[in-house]
Amino acid sequence: MRYISTRGTAPVLNFEEAMLTGLARDGGLYVPEVIPQMGVADIARLEGLSYEAIAYRVMRPFVGGVFTDDEFEGIIARAYAGFGHAARAPLVQLDQGHFLLELFHGPTLAFKDFAMQLIGQMFQTALGRRGERVTIVGATSGDTGSAAIEAFRGLDNVDVFILYPHGRISEVQRRQMTTPVESNVHALAMDGDFDECQARLKDMFNDFAFRDEVKLAGVNSINWGRVLAQVVYYFSAAVSVGAPHRPVSFTVPTGNFGDIFAGYIAKRMGLPIDKLVVATNQNDILDRCLKGQGYHKGATVPSISPSMDIQVSSNFERALFDAYDREGPAIVQLMDELKAGGFEVSQGAMQVLQSHYASGRASEDETSATIASALATTGELLCPHSAVGVKVAEEHRVTGTPMITLATAHPAKFPDAVEQAATQRPPLPPRMADLYERAERVSRVPNDLQALISHIKGHRAA
Ligand SMILES: *Cc1c(COP(=O)(O)O)cnc(C)c1O
Repeated sequence: MRYISTRGTAPVLNFEEAMLTGLARDGGLYVPEVIPQMGVADIARLEGLSYEAIAYRVMRPFVGGVFTDDEFEGIIARAYAGFGHAARAPLVQLDQGHFLLELFHGPTLAFKDFAMQLIGQMFQTALGRRGERVTIVGATSGDTGSAAIEAFRGLDNVDVFILYPHGRISEVQRRQMTTPVESNVHALAMDGDFDECQARLKDMFNDFAFRDEVKLAGVNSINWGRVLAQVVYYFSAAVSVGAPHRPVSFTVPTGNFGDIFAGYIAKRMGLPIDKLVVATNQNDILDRCLKGQGYHKGATVPSISPSMDIQVSSNFERALFDAYDREGPAIVQLMDELKAGGFEVSQGAMQVLQSHYASGRASEDETSATIASALATTGELLCPHSAVGVKVAEEHRVTGTPMITLATAHPAKFPDAVEQAATQRPPLPPRMADLYERAERVSRVPNDLQALISHIKGHRAA
């Protein structure tokens, strides 16, 4: 299995290289050269299997010869062993034909654990075999960073540095990053917003001298290994409500477009998905773009669903790449225009995008109202991101086609917003009840590339 860059000029890599690299050297994102197919019979055979067994069958063809069958089976088993629910990704019914896919039973209570725990195990196996040590640097709007730190803490072959926007993440998110005691993890509170954190991260990857000196590796949502891990639960969920014998739709609370893009990959593999609905909060650049209004950056407005507060949605580049018939130069041009503020999508590309994706947005008031109404009618306490999804899903439901909304985080990760809306404070699960008592360790850093580089060089383990 070979991986190519969306900008067309970076080297073609295998799965292991694409995963360890993250961002391609031409600034693009790696995608598989061809998408493996699963036929109706292959999909039907997933019914009744464990999450791990489905994960193995869905992901195996993408990995190629990088891991042996036994190695890959072991990686998957270790990745999901620490989840707090036997089904890993249980489905609960909200209403006739509307289901909630609970993706928050991992160690940091957000869906990012599905990908990060798997990547941690894959890095460990691949780097151990190579006898190499890498420096992982990530930027987070809250959940990626805690998931990364949880996945890599104490592993022998990595240092992890996570940049987060100072003062703009929830206390639970911050504490999950600042309380691990292992010396290979480093939380960095940067002065700036999430887009600025992402921009400095990109700058570090584009500084090839630094990149090579510290063996920089990325695990942000652009990492192909992460997208791949997320493809699995589209299959497990769809099969449990009737696929491949009937089509299913999904609504996905979206920021960086990684999670919903995994749904698109599932569809391209052969899963009968009717609609993939992008749900945004008031930072609705993707909703506007998918409605044909172009992609134009504005200011990021902080919301009660902070993990979706973005203007530059990195993985959208992968969707554009396919919509533009996989022409690298077209993507290079769009991304240049984006640096200057934004771009228009061509008519042909817009048609392709709209054939796969629908979209909607939820205001702050609508999000809070949905938390309250879902609790009243179903007993389910939603986190604000999941509530954005449920609200938008309601607008896209069609009789006869099950709608599955992804619940991306546990309500206890955003207790203030949930309490305000539902007048109940969601408690942390017992296994992390002492989070508020643990000591914190964090470095405050400026929004400055050179300062960040010297901080990282100075704080790596030998
Ligand atoms: C990361 C995140 C999202 C957005 O996911 P993308 O893959 O970036 O689109 C939504 N909800 C929560 C809780 C998240 O942590």
